[in-house]
Amino acid sequence: MILRSLAVEPLFVALREPFVIASARMDTTRAGLVRITLDNGVEGLGEAATLPPVTREDYADVEATIRAAALVGASVEASEHAIDALLEPFSATPVARAGIETAILDALSRAVGQPMAALFGAPSRAPLETDVTLPIADPARMIELSREWRAKGFRTFKVKVGKELEHDRQAIVGVLGAVPDARFRLDANEGFTADEALALLRAVAAEGAIVECFEQPCRRVDLEGMARVTREGGVPVVADEAVRSLDDLERVHAMGAATGVNLKLVKHGGPIGAHRIGKRARELGMQVMCGAMVETRLGLTAMAHVVAAIGGADYVDLDTAFLLAEDPFEGGFVADGPRLSATFGPGLDVRLRQR
Ligand SMILES: [Mg+2]
Repeated sequence: MILRSLAVEPLFVALREPFVIASARMDTTRAGLVRITLDNGVEGLGEAATLPPVTREDYADVEATIRAAALVGASVEASEHAIDALLEPFSATPVARAGIETAILDALSRAVGQPMAALFGAPSRAPLETDVTLPIADPARMIELSREWRAKGFRTFKVKVGKELEHDRQAIVGVLGAVPDARFRLDANEGFTADEALALLRAVAAEGAIVECFEQPCRRVDLEGMARVTREGGVPVVADEAVRSLDDLERVHAMGAATGVNLKLVKHGGPIGAHRIGKRARELGMQVMCGAMVETRLGLTAMAHVVAAIGGADYVDLDTAFLLAEDPFEGGFVADGPRLSATFGPGLDVRLRQR
């Protein structure tokens, strides 16, 4: 099939609560909505979600890359090899590539009436239970939010830490007091040294907090520090910022710098790269987390299809649609509290809401 059109527009959605992490703050998403059309008239949608400086690209970069892309008129086919070759010029701009690739895969799978996940093989249809993120805020606010989420059925909290150890300790202990059956996934977004990360783990363990994993405790280049947290922390360590490519994954594994990896479409250039890294992580015996930048239902659905294609994930972190003030899309998945069930309709089965 031939790509007949490719366009990008801002997909900026206000958040209900400022999304504050050790390395960034966001009040409104800064994504591109990528739309393509094939010559048979079938359309595809993709999300190119930026979160600078976690992503090197910002929205303006994504827009410039996609406007300059010489793809209209190109032949597209549902083969990993062919799509990789077609999108090779975008390897240095993984966010833009992820948006384009997702839209192409959405359209190609829609055209044959199959879910996108089926392009990768027979998908698992098990529902996914996601955690919910508590961004860095005043501990009292984090505690209040944890109560609200618990009332909606969420009990696994991804707590953003890494700015100030004592603040983080107070927030986690406070949440545990408010939600006694809480389980924690910590994410420092590179904010700690190994000593600080280990001190936080000890402090919250002493209060009885159950920590399921610790994501990116140290800087992405500090693999020695991450290896120390992995050896001495007593909890699984998940590499996020430290793993963009397959080579990164191999290095992190060889150094014992993590026991798991967080997959994100915009880090790996789209579903194909995320699927490849997820499969390799499984072969290496590593845990898999599936995550997102601050993405809408569109990006989350695409990741849910990748997870289905690799047979599930150890940690599901696909909550960001719940953090938005409005949902520009419908379809893709049905949510029952923290349980997400992809519809597995044709393509991603996500549609823009009529306004
Ligand atoms: Mg992370």
